[in-house]
Amino acid sequence: MSARRLKVVHLFPELLNLYGDSGNILVLRSRMAWRGIEPVVEEVHFGETPSFADADIAFIGGGSDREQRIVCESLLAQRAELASFVEDGGALLAVCGGYQLLGSEYAMGDEAVQGLSLVDLYTDHGDPRLIGNIVVESPISPQPIVGYENHAGRTHLGEGVTPLGQVLYGHGNDGETGQEGCLYKNVVGTYVHGPLLPKNPGVADWLIARALERRYGTSELEPLDDAVELEANRVMYERLMSGKVAE
Ligand code: GLN
Repeated sequence: MSARRLKVVHLFPELLNLYGDSGNILVLRSRMAWRGIEPVVEEVHFGETPSFADADIAFIGGGSDREQRIVCESLLAQRAELASFVEDGGALLAVCGGYQLLGSEYAMGDEAVQGLSLVDLYTDHGDPRLIGNIVVESPISPQPIVGYENHAGRTHLGEGVTPLGQVLYGHGNDGETGQEGCLYKNVVGTYVHGPLLPKNPGVADWLIARALERRYGTSELEPLDDAVELEANRVMYERLMSGKVAE
């Protein structure tokens, strides 16, 4: 088979990188390379114009309200291109502040940031902030997803939008519905930092498989030795679910 490559577009790494979110890129890069898929990572810095024309996976990390405001204004100019990427089945991972930007708006009391309206959802502010470890059961991951959340935003999904999963521990979208994140086409929105992918290799492989399917017509992935990753996942899962860690 001829060499395969996948292009990952990493949006505004210097502005959106809370709790090590950029580590997600290292995981995508490694899991592709270990399988002989060449990872091509394009960082889009603030002031540059992102292009999604030949992108396979896009990534938007989390940020403070201030950073979100700056980024959103800039991304709104590329909304149409990003929307066609999403509607065409492009894989997109958006974490926390990035997740909130997928919706129609992010309302912070007397100010609202207009979102990209890529997925039918919106976010408003609540008190207190939802902070702590989180465990989520999701159909896209063979293991429970483990990580960390810290957000004032409460995200509300539109009727047809599926959550990424159900909260087993922690808060998730709004601390009330037991839902976490969103799944729409090949878009994953989530509040899970950590970063997300190192301890949740199933989510990384889900994104890579969707990208391969779209680009090369096959979602088959060579299995990797994930002993260390799965052990890290298991330890966190058991520590949290045993009730030994105060929320
Ligand atoms: N600023 C957003 C909030 O507080 C997102 C924070 C984050 O990305 N962790 O809801």
